Amino acid sequence: MSSITQALQFVNHQIQQALAQAHRPANSVDLLAVSKTKPLSDIAQAYQAGQRRFGENYVQEGVDKILESRQQAWLNEPIEWHFIGPLQSNKTRLVAEHFDWMQTLDRAKIADRLAAQRPEQMAPLQVCIQVNISQEQAKSGVSLAEVDALAAHIAQQPQLNLRGLMAIPQNLGQGQALAEQFKAMGEKFAELQQQYASVDTLSMGMSGDMQLAINHGSTMVRVGSAIFGQRG
Ligand SMILES: *Cc1c(COP(=O)(O)O)cnc(C)c1O
Repeated sequence: MSSITQALQFVNHQIQQALAQAHRPANSVDLLAVSKTKPLSDIAQAYQAGQRRFGENYVQEGVDKILESRQQAWLNEPIEWHFIGPLQSNKTRLVAEHFDWMQTLDRAKIADRLAAQRPEQMAPLQVCIQVNISQEQAKSGVSLAEVDALAAHIAQQPQLNLRGLMAIPQNLGQGQALAEQFKAMGEKFAELQQQYASVDTLSMGMSGDMQLAINHGSTMVRVGSAIFGQRG
């Protein structure tokens, strides 16, 4: 068995354990395998082990892998590709034309461009609003107070489908501050679900804070190096 296959099994096992500890149903959290900087051959190994959902941070690198993956003999079911990096407005077309999900949407202007550029024959782009939950100056994302306005804006665009919220908290370990931030995300997510039938995704939690995120209602965890190894 390859090390990627083993690591993937281990991470899936950790997710199920965290769910059990949180008294949540099995399989109620999806794993996004973050494959940034890793070659398509690594993605192929994870795919052969059953993984279908991959996340990329750099637009051009992601698009190259998406196109290359479609040429592969091993691809018998489609991969679900998630864009999870910062996006400049001059790169929106690449995301609109190639990705299935855009998790880091934080501006109405970017939403408008993605909607206009999404090809009509494709399914709507699935989007999450990125929340800057740690209120860091440098990080992208809207404040919790700004979520409703952006959600309403996205909901008007037929080429976009609002799926939920995403956050990358500051690295605070497993401390009380992080728990409070995850709790606030969980509450906002529940509120949004009341308003929009399409909302089902709370993307939060990585290797180090998976249990805490799952305790607070995460439905998608994003894991890279624990599956593919450290990035060079
Ligand atoms: C890189 C990245 C991850 C995964 O990080 P690892 O430390 O490799 O597990 C998760 N989410 C986002 C947004 C990332 O950029």
